[in-house]
Amino acid sequence: MGNSRITNIVSPNPASRRILITGGAGFLGSHLCERLLGLGHNVLCLDNFSTGRVENVEHLIGHAGFQLLRHDIVTPCSELAVDEIYNLACPASPPDYQADPIHTMKTSALGALNLLEFARERGIRIFQASTSEIYGDPHVHPQPEFYWGNVNPIGPRACYDEGKRCAETLFFDYARQYGVSIKVCRIFNTYGPRMRPNDGRVVSNFIVQALQGKNITIYGSGTQTRSFCYVDDLIEGFVRLMESPDDVTGPINLGNPDEFTIRELAEFVIDMTGSKSRIVHRALPVDDPQQRRPDIRRAREALAWKPTVGLAEGLSKTIAYFDRVLGVETTVSQESAA
Ligand code: NAD
Ligand code: UDP
Repeated sequence: MGNSRITNIVSPNPASRRILITGGAGFLGSHLCERLLGLGHNVLCLDNFSTGRVENVEHLIGHAGFQLLRHDIVTPCSELAVDEIYNLACPASPPDYQADPIHTMKTSALGALNLLEFARERGIRIFQASTSEIYGDPHVHPQPEFYWGNVNPIGPRACYDEGKRCAETLFFDYARQYGVSIKVCRIFNTYGPRMRPNDGRVVSNFIVQALQGKNITIYGSGTQTRSFCYVDDLIEGFVRLMESPDDVTGPINLGNPDEFTIRELAEFVIDMTGSKSRIVHRALPVDDPQQRRPDIRRAREALAWKPTVGLAEGLSKTIAYFDRVLGVETTVSQESAA
């Protein structure tokens, strides 16, 4: 890794750690960078910028404790001086992770292997952003961590689901075989500012469509369910898990247990934006999970964590964000067209 030498991370106080965040320029990663800097840590944000954007962390560039590095975790990193790792690198939206399924699988499996080896050599703690997709199209509802899931290993979602399952296996084998300190969380659908407008996930799609007066595209009948967690709640869960005692390895579900149908979400977004958009139906993607809701008892007990932001509050902040971003984009494109 040619451009990886890190020389100017500073440690403003003794409790401060040097923290590597892979996928740090993505939606969740950028919020985590901010949060950890705010706690007085130094952050090395590593990203291949496949779905992440410099704009997400632009405001952090120049902060004494922040560094940005372009790198793909499929290639080992060897020269970094860090005390702990959050591994968030992986496209998360179905259209994104299916665009190059082989690279998605490599990112989850080889990326995890490289980072775990790195953590083992240095004796440092490593956190894995796993996913509710581990449960596939679940037969158990809500999903507790001890449920093994129902995943199609050869379908179009498998590059992501099986990749993340493989990563979990590697994490637990590195813990058992080498004593690496691991933290594995399973994230349920999370939304908020800094999702890409064209990311393809349901919350960003519906809000952007509503704000632009375009048709709201429900895939299938809209009776499938999801449980939506606001980003700030999730990041709080990340930090609590990372700071927890060694024996709290996870896997641990992090998500908001309030469950909605996709049709309810569409109607909610239309109401909140006052949009004139119409609902239209499109084909349901293959293997689309029909029901999803986290059982968060483990997170409540082990981390004293529960979400605090309801859907109305979270959507209102996210709508305000997209309103601003789309307004700017529209102004810029009108100016450049003039
Ligand atoms: P995102 O696409 O915004 O962020 C992913 C980041 O990883 C991007 O910045 C991307 O450029 C980077 N990346 C991808 N492959 C990489 C590679 N090989 N090397 C280096 N960087 C790479 O998505 P997100 O929602 O912020 O998701 C972050 C993590 O959380 C992912 O691992 C995802 O699987 C997990 N997750 C997210 C959700 C959610 O609802 N947001 C749900 C479950 C799991
Ligand atoms: N979905 C939808 N319209 C869209 C985007 C997504 O109806 O424009 C549906 C999708 O089929 C799924 C749910 O919304 O049932 C959540 O999709 P998303 O891609 O956000 O995340 P997933 O949980 O499927 O990974």
